[in-house]
Amino acid sequence: MIRCDKCGRRVVVRQKYSGASLCQEHFDQDLYRKIREVLRLTRPFSRGARIAVALGGDCASSCLLRSLKAIFERRKDLEITALLVDEGIEGYRPESLDYASRVADMLDVPWIRLSFRGAFGIDVDDADPKDKCTFCRVGKDALFNYAAVDLRAKALATGETLDDEARAALSICLKGETDQIGRLRRSPCFSIAPRIKPLSRVPAREVGLYARIHGLSGMKNRCPYARCLPVEKVLSGFEAKHPGTRYSLLRSMERMAEMLGPMNGCEKTSEKGYENSHEKSL
Ligand SMILES: [Zn+2]
Repeated sequence: MIRCDKCGRRVVVRQKYSGASLCQEHFDQDLYRKIREVLRLTRPFSRGARIAVALGGDCASSCLLRSLKAIFERRKDLEITALLVDEGIEGYRPESLDYASRVADMLDVPWIRLSFRGAFGIDVDDADPKDKCTFCRVGKDALFNYAAVDLRAKALATGETLDDEARAALSICLKGETDQIGRLRRSPCFSIAPRIKPLSRVPAREVGLYARIHGLSGMKNRCPYARCLPVEKVLSGFEAKHPGTRYSLLRSMERMAEMLGPMNGCEKTSEKGYENSHEKSL
């Protein structure tokens, strides 16, 4: 039996990229450490702060909510509110959001549910087939930001994993969109509540493992409009042969982003500009 490097108990994970073998307790601590490292890059949360967490019924956002609750367990002055957005995708989203609301209830986190139909008068199902994914992405960003600002949240936390961030970084390189490097660290232009991605240093596989261990595996159904991204296949192949590739890629992009400016700012948009683009988005 393989034993935990730190305490000798039975392992739940072997990390090829670090060489570590960890039991459940030390795996949880390792995941929380990675989240704290990301949170340290943002400003520490002040007394009486509120964090909005985007929750979608998938294992990543459920893992995010549970881990933030665990990390801030002793911060009684810090409030967490979950935001659920119904894009209007039949056979997919209603079930996911029912699950998400149960997760929030189980973790004793208050939640707010918003919908495309209520905000924009149209569901994603009814949008132009060519524009569905863009409409969905931009609309969700707008609704999450609207709700986070309305709550006066100090930050809006979303569930992107290391795999998501590395994929975005490689896509930027492959498309030659070097002007987009800064967006890996900055919030979208129409955001006031700073966007944070606490799971961005945690591999998706470990996010899934954490969720399974803690009974939060989430809905298995996929968005019917989602496409398989070739970039992910390339990255998975590299990661299998060279463990740590995703970390290396993300670190390289973060260093370049640091050279481009401070985190969570938007050099192009003033607060007035936010109001204009926000209204346009809604
Ligand atoms: Zn251990």
